[in-house]
Amino acid sequence: MTRIAIVGVAGRMGRTLVNAIELEAEATLAGGVVAQGSSLAGADVGELAGVGKRGVVAVDSLESIVDDFDVLIDFTTPQVTLANLAFCAEHGKRIVIGTTGMSDDQLATLDSYRDRVPMVFAPNMSVGVNLTLKLLETAARALGDEGYDIEVIESHHRHKVDAPSGTAIKMGEVIAASLGRSLKEHGVFERVGQCGPRTDKEIGFATVRAGDIVGEHTVMFATEGERIEITHKASSRMTFAKGAVRAARWVADKESGHYDMQDVLGLA
Ligand code: NAD
Repeated sequence: MTRIAIVGVAGRMGRTLVNAIELEAEATLAGGVVAQGSSLAGADVGELAGVGKRGVVAVDSLESIVDDFDVLIDFTTPQVTLANLAFCAEHGKRIVIGTTGMSDDQLATLDSYRDRVPMVFAPNMSVGVNLTLKLLETAARALGDEGYDIEVIESHHRHKVDAPSGTAIKMGEVIAASLGRSLKEHGVFERVGQCGPRTDKEIGFATVRAGDIVGEHTVMFATEGERIEITHKASSRMTFAKGAVRAARWVADKESGHYDMQDVLGLA
């Protein structure tokens, strides 16, 4: 049984993580941390997440539950996550990090803990997306230099502020790496006006922003006579939460190291 504590338990992902732990027989909710001074400290974590009273009270300091958990799951902000990583190093805990938006310096600091903490860090915890990356690697290797044009099409809700999505870029990077290409050189992020015909090696990106789409990615490998499309569609945050809980169970018996979801899924 893996005892899991969640930092940022009152957040969108925090609440979803409580629901995901409920579905997992081999994991138990051992603690929930809210921001210091939050009025939600003292509330029942199960009630916060809408699953009913669970007898686990939200606290605003990790210190106060240090003996209660084995693995921390952290979906907060870069600064908070790095402070929690230091806490885990000091107290012999394991951590699963879903927080995004880290600067290069913050990523280097995170990585500097690889010898002191067993950690899983992935900006996309969806099992499906991580499997899709692996499928793309295989498809790109088989088709990319054989006359198949590669295009990445992604769709997200109307509120998303960046484009293309981080996941789409990651897909492009994986494809480029499999083919010995560089996304900087071969990525085409805009086509407008008299842009001329497509070149053989380019990897094209197209973006859709509409309504409440949670996140959809399709990679097309197209040639004369046939077209292969590999598609991933996320319809709820539960996919990220389930991936994080799976990662927490996986890292529970691992040595110190900086792992990602490819390691968790046995795809590395
Ligand atoms: P959110 O704002 O809803 O939740 C973050 C929570 O952290 C808030 O409740 C906030 O009060 C809390 N918090 C802030 N400081 C804290 C502290 N010191 N101690 C405890 N709690 C603290 O955001 P969200 O949508 O849940 O996303 C959180 C992060 O997870 C973002 O970086 C987001 O991009 C990332 N994310 C990653 C994945 C993935 O698959 N890796 C998926 C979804 C979101």
